[in-house]
This record gives sequence, C-alpha cells and structure tokens, in this order.
Amino acid sequence: MDMEQHRKGPGRAWLIVLSVLLPVVLLAAAAYLLLFGYNQFALELELNGGETLTLEFGEEYREPGCRLVLRGTRFWQEGVELDAAIQVSGQVDSGHLGNYALNYQAAYLGVEAETVRTVRVVDTVSPVITLVPDEPDLQAAPVYQEAGFSACDNYDGDLTAQVVRTEEEGRILYSVTDSSGNAATAERVIPIYDQYPPELTLLGGERTVLPLGMKYSDPGCTAYDRKDGDLTAQVTVSIDHPFVRYLPDSYQLTYRVTDSEGHESVATRTLVTEPAPRPRVIYPKGKTIYLTFDDGPGPDTGRLLDVLSRYNVKATFFVVDNGYPDLLRRMVNEGHSIGIHTRSHRYGEIYSGADAYFEDLFAMQQVIQDATGVETWLLRFPGGSSNTISRKNHGIMTYLTQAVEDCGFSYFDWNVDSDDAGSAKTANQVFQNVVDGIRENPYSVVLQHDIHSCSVDAVERIIRWGMDNGYQFLPLQTDSPVMHHEVQN
Ligand SMILES: [Zn+2]
Repeated sequence: MDMEQHRKGPGRAWLIVLSVLLPVVLLAAAAYLLLFGYNQFALELELNGGETLTLEFGEEYREPGCRLVLRGTRFWQEGVELDAAIQVSGQVDSGHLGNYALNYQAAYLGVEAETVRTVRVVDTVSPVITLVPDEPDLQAAPVYQEAGFSACDNYDGDLTAQVVRTEEEGRILYSVTDSSGNAATAERVIPIYDQYPPELTLLGGERTVLPLGMKYSDPGCTAYDRKDGDLTAQVTVSIDHPFVRYLPDSYQLTYRVTDSEGHESVATRTLVTEPAPRPRVIYPKGKTIYLTFDDGPGPDTGRLLDVLSRYNVKATFFVVDNGYPDLLRRMVNEGHSIGIHTRSHRYGEIYSGADAYFEDLFAMQQVIQDATGVETWLLRFPGGSSNTISRKNHGIMTYLTQAVEDCGFSYFDWNVDSDDAGSAKTANQVFQNVVDGIRENPYSVVLQHDIHSCSVDAVERIIRWGMDNGYQFLPLQTDSPVMHHEVQN
C-alpha cells in the first residue's frame, strides 16, 4: 500500500508540475507566435517630405527631418515613434545643379535602420530678356536699327549672345533658352520714324496724249507712305483749267496727298489733246445706195425696220432724242448704223456757238450709248453742213465741219434728196425723187426722214427698184464716202 502510495506520490507531483508548466509553455508559445510569427516588427526611418526633394537652384536646403518608427505587420501598423538619435550624413550644394544623396542612420536596442533621401537641385527659372527702348527722336533710317537688348539667366548668367532675333510683319521677336531648357521671349514693334512724304506713282505716265472728242478717263495715281501705307484713296486730283473735249489744248493735272505727319506729296501730269486721225475713205465696189433716215425714231420707224428686215437691207439712222430707246436698240441689233443728228434739233440753240453745239452733240452721243451700248462717231448736221439757217452765227459751219472731224466724227451730207421734208407729200413723189437722184450717181447717200409716213411708205419700192437695177444697199461707216456739201456759212 505504502509502496503504491509512494509510487503514487511522485506521479501526483508530476501531474502538478505538468498542470502548472503546460499553460505557461502554451502561453509563451502563443505569445511568441503572436509577436514574431504572425505579426512581424520592423524598425523604419521615415523621411518627412518624401524620398525625393526638389530644390530650386540657389535656394537654401532645410532638412525636413526624419522619424524612427517601430511598426508591426498585423498590429501596430500605425507605428510607434521611438526616441532615438538619427545620424544624417551627406551634403546638398544648391549652388550646383545635380542630384544629392542624404543618408539617415539610427539604432534602437541594438537594431539598426537606415535610409537615403535624394535631393535634386534644379533650375526652372527662365532667363530675362531686356530691350533697350527706342529713342523717339531717332533719325529716320531706311532699315530699322536695333536699339539693343540683353538676356540674363539666374543660372547661366549672360545669354545675350544666344538670343535669336527675327523680324516679321513690323515686329522683332527675341527668344533665348537657358541650359535647363527654360525659354524666354520678348517682342518689339518696329517703330517707324517717318520723315518722308508719301510716294506718288502716276499710272499711265507723266504725259498723256488724247485725241479730241474722247472722254478723258484718268488712269489715277497711287500713293504709298512709309508709315500710313497705301494712301491711294486719299489722293486728290485737280486740273488747271476746265477740260473741253473738242478743243486742242494742254492741261496740267495735279495729284496731291498728305500723310498723317503732314508731309505733302505732289505729282503732275500733262494732258495734251490733239486732233484725231481722220479715216481714209473706202469706196464700195459696185453701185451703192446708202439709205439714211433723219429726225427719228418715230411712230413709223418700227414698220420701216420691218421692211428693211424683210429685204435684209441695212440703212443708217441719224437720230434725235425722241425717246424710243427700244427702237434705237433694234436698229443696232438688226445691223443698221446709228448716227447722231442732234439732241434738241433746235437750230437757234445748237448753232449759237461751238460750246452749245458740242454739248448737244456729246449729249446725244451719250443718249445713244446709254440705249444701245454703241459709241457712235457718225454724224449728220441738222440742216446739213451747207445749211444757211445758222447764218446768224457767222462762220459757225466752217468751224464746226472742221472741229467735228478733229474730234473723230465722220459727218455725212447727202447727194440724193427725197425732198420728203419739202414738197414731196406722197410716197410716189418720194420714190420718184429718190430714184431720179440715184440714177445720176455711182454712190448715193439718200436723205429721208422716218418721221414722215409717206417717206416710209416709199422705202419698199425704192429697195425693189434698187435691187432690180443692180444696186447694193449698205449702212454708213466712218470710212464711207461722206458726200460733203459745200459749206455756205
Ligand atoms: Zn433734221
């Protein structure tokens, strides 16, 4: 029993020991696992401001500091800052561009930690370009003279020699880039010191010769100013005395323009008017009748045109300003010649003087041109060149017959008179007068008036008679036989 009990004694003690030790061992094992297995600790140096810092060239480096931290992977993840001395080694030279390394070292309970920070010293500041101002009273020069410039960089220093200078559209552009790639630009508007008046350029030359009778159309004058540019629209033109289309003369045209600085430029042109060359008369081949009709258009002109059209006969109309612009157009469109008779047909007015005559003549020329687009140089004097109704103004016809030819007109009288404005009151009388006249001439310029119905009535018979007797019918041209009468006044 005792033995058994004795044996039992140590057995119980072992149990006691086991019951005490086992939890301790288990707890220790659990604690070990918790602290060093499941959760792992690390000692870290944490850099305030990050691992890489950028410092502007020349700026003083200020250490943002560093912390020693104990941190667990599972818990204490936020870390616990430890109070320990941190050694920093390395230098940052902000006076030189480059990357600098700073080493941080610390130890805690025999465990060491270290890290590195990189500090980049950079230049991000652009150079500065300085322009010397232009002198406002600088002498005018044909080409702009540079007033001067310089460029300075905080790192590279003087960059003036590297400045690229370009001119465009009245501006100068300056640009420069420093060694770190920082660019700078500057701009100057090219000042214009205008001491010069505008430059005038005559179009068409300094001397113009114009045939009498022509309208003068000035070719103009361009003006260019250094400062104001194109001043052509501001050019004024004046003439030294009034232009007269029918008188040979010499005129001085003066062109003026003033620039914004008050400089005036003047150019002059001489305009000389002289008699127009006279056409050489070309006589038609064969027996020829020129039918001519004065004083129209009128109510009978339309049917006259119908008759002419039916026989394909071309005639000549010396017209008056009676209206009927559509008939004037029809004459031209159907191949007839159109000439000037007079605008007013008032003898007393038109033969009162050369000015009055030519005013009437050119006015009628314009009426015809406005209606038909044709500028005609065919003319028949009211009453013919041999008229005596102008006698009140002695010598007027002698003057006018020369003057109209000097103006380029061909004036036509007639050698066959139908007398339809006189004693011929019937178509038969008109017909008889016309054919009697024609028989006497190789070329006949026949005078009729399409404002007289009986005269228009005779035209078809005259045409048939002419055709039957081997005549051709032609419209007058400036070089046709003129059949001038002897001037009586
Ligand atoms: Zn007449």
